[in-house]
Amino acid sequence: MLVTYVRSSSYNNYAYCQMQYFITYVLGHQSDSGKKADMGTMAHKAMEILAGLKKFQQDNPRRKYLVVEDDAAGKIRIKKDELYTDDFVNDLIEISIDCYAKNSKHKFYPKERKEVAQTVWTFLTHSDGMFDPRKRNIHHPEPHFDIPIEEDWAKFEYEIDGEKVQGQLAIKGTIDLVTLLNEDTIEVIDWKSGRRMDWATGEVKDYKKLENDAQLLLYFYAISKLYPEYPNRIMSIFFYKDAEGEPDPKPFSLMFDKSDEARFLEMLKNRVEEIRHNVNPKPLDPTRSHWKCKYLCHFCKNNWEGTDEKMCIYIEKHLKKHGMEKTVNECTRPGFNIGFYEAPG
Ligand code: SF4
Repeated sequence: MLVTYVRSSSYNNYAYCQMQYFITYVLGHQSDSGKKADMGTMAHKAMEILAGLKKFQQDNPRRKYLVVEDDAAGKIRIKKDELYTDDFVNDLIEISIDCYAKNSKHKFYPKERKEVAQTVWTFLTHSDGMFDPRKRNIHHPEPHFDIPIEEDWAKFEYEIDGEKVQGQLAIKGTIDLVTLLNEDTIEVIDWKSGRRMDWATGEVKDYKKLENDAQLLLYFYAISKLYPEYPNRIMSIFFYKDAEGEPDPKPFSLMFDKSDEARFLEMLKNRVEEIRHNVNPKPLDPTRSHWKCKYLCHFCKNNWEGTDEKMCIYIEKHLKKHGMEKTVNECTRPGFNIGFYEAPG
């Protein structure tokens, strides 16, 4: 399979279902987001805007108004003192819900709105407000990263649409929040509104699991490249729910060091090589009767356009009949470009 980028979501998705990985990240077909995922996005948006407003206040201490221009919620402009009021937080939660609800295929009733509000308020008030962005020194709200892996094994050369493409594998993603604790120390915070479990294995995430968690190591590697001037980098991951989906707020904080960078690169190399050599992605369940196929997967619930076959089955048959190259050429979503990192200059 072609692989030019690794995101934390794609790394985990390959372990969950190779076929879903192939359809999503190689062929570029998108899944409709579920209601719970939308609710998570809404809660994240409220947290992001609060951090953005706090950052504005830090950078402009004399301004009477705080302003954030948000891609989804639009312009938020408030009086300085409003930032710390419950009324503003409640209004912001409603704004965050509405801006996603209007384009969602789901309906968000008072019960769901209340759950989003509870998630946000839990993030803000847990441990005496220790994770409230308004009480933090914000270094960077929601930084994006796109970092090439400067290793020989990370070089790639593919033919895409008859054109030779060369590049360097990169890691890509978004970090929820970077805060500054002192001149040597940053803390990265990742809000998790979903269940505290590994969806591929069903295992509950605890400190032991998190030490080897690919997403955390990927973030750690990214922040060590983005913020090399801070020798101490803390990664905190705040789960709102337990493995069963019941509210059970639990933040975990970890520190990684230089040896973990090498450990991450080794994990990444193994995963990337496995993906590269895989020309026959396995479905999670060959019969598609597993609940994860039937109830969770977009590619099981929707047919390939113009056929009465599920997208997943259609792609599996296409691969068997025509092989990887032809399937990539014929079944890639129109307009989708797998993208690749080109070193500047
Ligand atoms: S239907 Fe099942 S096997 Fe197919 S992509 Fe979805 S999860 Fe994987």
